[in-house]
Amino acid sequence: PLNTTDLIEEHRICVCVRARPLNKKELTTKDLDVITVPSKDVVMVHEPKQKVDLTRYLENQTFRFDYAFDDSTTNEMVYRFTARPLVETIFERGMATCFAYGQTGSGKTHTMGGDFSGKNQDCSKGIYALAAREVFVMLGKPNYKKLDLQVFATFFEIYSGKVFDLLNRKAKLRVLEDGKQQVQVVGLQEKEVKCTEDVLRLIEVGNSCRTSGQTSANAHSSRSHAVFQIILRRRGKMHGKFSLIDLAGNERGADTSSADRQTRLEGAEINKSLLALKECIRALGRNKPHTPFRASKLTQVLRDSFIGENSRTCMIATISPGMASCENTLNTLRYANSPL
Ligand code: ADP
Ligand code: MG
Repeated sequence: PLNTTDLIEEHRICVCVRARPLNKKELTTKDLDVITVPSKDVVMVHEPKQKVDLTRYLENQTFRFDYAFDDSTTNEMVYRFTARPLVETIFERGMATCFAYGQTGSGKTHTMGGDFSGKNQDCSKGIYALAAREVFVMLGKPNYKKLDLQVFATFFEIYSGKVFDLLNRKAKLRVLEDGKQQVQVVGLQEKEVKCTEDVLRLIEVGNSCRTSGQTSANAHSSRSHAVFQIILRRRGKMHGKFSLIDLAGNERGADTSSADRQTRLEGAEINKSLLALKECIRALGRNKPHTPFRASKLTQVLRDSFIGENSRTCMIATISPGMASCENTLNTLRYANSPL
């Protein structure tokens, strides 16, 4: 039987997992698929189905989530079960948050931002864009139309504990907390958006800003958290906010023993923020008044999303299907699966 705590938790937090197909590189190196999604809420990590000489035995492990999406699931489908229910939250004066968590290359950016990997970059199919589209549909409904809401967007990056504005040429921003524990990112650009196309343009601007000057897009994004927010305002006052976050690659937390000092520091920072994130989500689920948000810059800037009556969050854990990624995959599944 469910008690009230379970009900709150169930309602406020949704955790799901998404497996992507084997990619070209994995196929060329003859990596083998070790992931199966046998039902809509279960994911299994197992021995490859092909007969191979295994250097080590891989024990079958089963994990249960609110939803498990197999490698044929589209972004639209993932969106429908994860971020979409949260769009209504921000119209009802609430705070919504959706995270993509996982190893570099597992599909976080594909899920959230859309596809930036090929020549024909398309951000219209990512969850950022799908959520934005829904916001404009909702705005037209009689109930909400009469509220006369305005829509704004922000896009920033947290790298090594510092905040950079992706809509303002990577300006470095300060985070201030006032006496009432209100957290403010000073000078963060909030751009008004009137339609989905406006939002798509901002995503493109932010994304090219994010990767500019870097040797490789993934090398940089694996070390930083990208935060895209849709803010509803009514007569200037915040009505609701949806934060959509493409987290740093969780394998970077293991860099704490690297020979390179900078890499080590970054790894420690990423570790700290991912642990703090889990604690904050946990506090939200348990309806605890004290959220340990100060433990990292990420949770600090998201503070207002972890408190309040009407806050909801969703975590999409993305996993690579290959045996070579098995260790990272299990880490991801354990993080997302442990009682939040
Ligand atoms: P991450 O952001 O986690 O580092 P990406 O989103 O960049 O990973 O994905 C790595 C590669 O895998 C990209 O080429 C991307 O297009 C591809 N990919 C990711 N998820 C899927 C999916 N569900 N279906 C097909 N291709 C995918
Ligand atoms: Mg990425």
